[in-house]
Amino acid sequence: MNGWAGRIVFEAIDRAALLWLGGWLMDPAEIQRLADAVRDVPDFPKPGIVFKDITPILGDGALFEISIRALAEVAHGAKVNTIVGIDARGFIFGAAVAHLLGAGFVPIRKKGKLPWATEFEAYSLEYGDAEIEIHKDAVHPGERILVVDDLLATGGTASAALKLIEKLGAETVGVAFLIELEFLKGRERLGDAPVEAILKY
Ligand code: AMP
Repeated sequence: MNGWAGRIVFEAIDRAALLWLGGWLMDPAEIQRLADAVRDVPDFPKPGIVFKDITPILGDGALFEISIRALAEVAHGAKVNTIVGIDARGFIFGAAVAHLLGAGFVPIRKKGKLPWATEFEAYSLEYGDAEIEIHKDAVHPGERILVVDDLLATGGTASAALKLIEKLGAETVGVAFLIELEFLKGRERLGDAPVEAILKY
């Protein structure tokens, strides 16, 4: 097999492993325990938004452990070098997943928070507009990235994060969310990156 054909085959195997393992290894009873702990807060931070509060999961050691294991399953077998976590709840989940996988952790932050030279992207949220940044030297060409955040809503944030990673030449091999608000169709904005969510609403 020549170079490019081999690369396509190996990428297909990686992707299949990512999707299969992401979908099958977790115990449904554990996933239900996570779902039961998510608290709906109506009209926060604006009227009409139902905020999915994940702090009850963070505050319970057993549930936090299940959530991190579930997010890490998404990457299993996909040879991830680095977890990119999105400001701010993506830091909590992403750093713990990185620790579990023995991967590095890179923060994508809201504009103005990172001290070194950055790339930035503007995007729109379910409830407002924002800009996010990544350090220019945080990820490198050829590096294999798993992006982690707590929630996929409209997909604006995650799509901006994927653009930043692409600008720096690294490869996003997966995008893992604890929660997906499916009715907002955010995954349609994430191109062909493999997207997995543990809880779907
Ligand atoms: P989006 O860019 O619209 O996909 O929004 C995703 C980001 O906004 C995530 O980082 C979430 O933490 C946050 N977010 C958006 N909508 C909600 C919601 N209904 N409940 C909790 N967090 C949300």
